[in-house]
Amino acid sequence: MKRTAFVLAIALVLVSCATMQPRGHALVSRAVQALGGADALAGVKTLSTKGTVREWEPEQSIAAGGEMRFTCESVFEAVTDVSAGATRIDWSRKFAYPAPRSFTFTEVVTPTAGYVAGIDSNGRTKQSLESNPPAHAMSGLRLAAAQRELRRASAVLLLEMLRNPDRLTAAGDVTVAGAAYPAVDYRAGDQTLTVLFDRTTGLPTRLRTLDYDNVWGDVTYDLVLSDWQAIDGVRVATTRKYELNGRVVSETKIAGGKVNGAVASDLLAIPEAFKTGAAKPATGAVPYQWVIRRQFIGIYLDSDVPSYDTRATSGLRLVELAPGVQHVVGGSHHSLLVEMRDHLIVFDAPVTDWHSNWVLGAARTKFPGKPVKYVVLTHHHMDHAGGIRAYAAQGATLIVGKGNGDHFKRVLAAPFTRNPDLAARDLSRTPIVEVAERHVITDGQREVHAYRIDNPHADGLLIGYVPDARLGFATDIWSPGAGPLPDKLNPGMAALVAGVKKAGISPARFAGGHGSVADYAPLAALEGK
Ligand SMILES: [Zn+2]
Repeated sequence: MKRTAFVLAIALVLVSCATMQPRGHALVSRAVQALGGADALAGVKTLSTKGTVREWEPEQSIAAGGEMRFTCESVFEAVTDVSAGATRIDWSRKFAYPAPRSFTFTEVVTPTAGYVAGIDSNGRTKQSLESNPPAHAMSGLRLAAAQRELRRASAVLLLEMLRNPDRLTAAGDVTVAGAAYPAVDYRAGDQTLTVLFDRTTGLPTRLRTLDYDNVWGDVTYDLVLSDWQAIDGVRVATTRKYELNGRVVSETKIAGGKVNGAVASDLLAIPEAFKTGAAKPATGAVPYQWVIRRQFIGIYLDSDVPSYDTRATSGLRLVELAPGVQHVVGGSHHSLLVEMRDHLIVFDAPVTDWHSNWVLGAARTKFPGKPVKYVVLTHHHMDHAGGIRAYAAQGATLIVGKGNGDHFKRVLAAPFTRNPDLAARDLSRTPIVEVAERHVITDGQREVHAYRIDNPHADGLLIGYVPDARLGFATDIWSPGAGPLPDKLNPGMAALVAGVKKAGISPARFAGGHGSVADYAPLAALEGK
């Protein structure tokens, strides 16, 4: 008997060593104590909080690499049913960018489906547009991102970690801003969260994921917790900041909360009509940064392909605007493809390298043997430049407005091992041309022009022009064909009209990075009105 007990004890020690990772386990255990203890956390059945959120977007700045754009100020009330794994958030969001407006809506996130009641974006899906009142099921991408962030910010995450020692690995010390923090990795699904702990208090202080950003490649995304307060016996961080590569892009302040308040069951229910056919949470290469940060500016298209609404269209397509001039449409963001004698020119590289790979494939079919030699970026914003790597990888030269060259040099030198659409390689020697005023590409027959124009949207913004087709290309200062013209020019349109005049060109039509294509004369006729 004695011997059996001894063997059993050894076996238990071995099991615990193999699965519990003592140091990681000790950190988690200490944190659970600091948060109020395992019993208090296990007693949390529902948690309600309310507060405010402020958000900023670094890649919608006026100057490339310049100050972040303040985008939105929100008020929210959230309630979580812990055992059901369901959360409802009622939002009132006041956006400052790209235009001032407010959206009031509700999100419900459950383990198997997500739902939005109300209008939460200018990039509305077909389902949202056709539902009365407006509502839609979340895409699997958004659901996965929402679930990840709810778990990261959960008041009971550390208890979940304590109960799943097999998913913990000690991560050693992680250094942030010169200070070393003991850390553990926690695997949840196909995600890994690195949790850093405060040496003094034992509390979790920073929860990190390693994300892919379409501009900066491999990035860190951290939730930084502080200002801990007790809510009904459980400690909750009342200041929560997200840092993208060390820059604060979101700040939440919790103004109050309640543990185990009564929650009506229908509050967390998704209506049957939206639950049926709702996407399951996406797995694998979820473009978290795209999904999360497009919501920062209230323009997210909630679809399982970031480039287009899968419920509205079968995908991207080419539309011929003139001989050898193709508009890449079908999604939220467009490019222009221009055929030269022995090569191609592309204006704008929107969304992702997936999008660019589609354009490259369509170009190979349409114009066999003609490589894309130049990519002209109208401006540096993440939604129109996030697919440059795929073109750079094909050997294309990048053409950007004056003052943008250094920015893209840094962007193309950044590692991108987590890019789901392009294998890592060295793009740091990609040729970059800056356009001070005017740049002409010619093959002896066709000319293609780029003009830098003064404008309120982005420093160094370029417009394109194909003289033989009398076709211009503009992004974000005018979306041709997107709607009726206003009674007078808005600042972006006025900049375009002034820029066309200064350039001395005479476009008959403009194609857009958004919208479609429209005659130019009616726009120009608004000048001075
Ligand atoms: Zn823009």
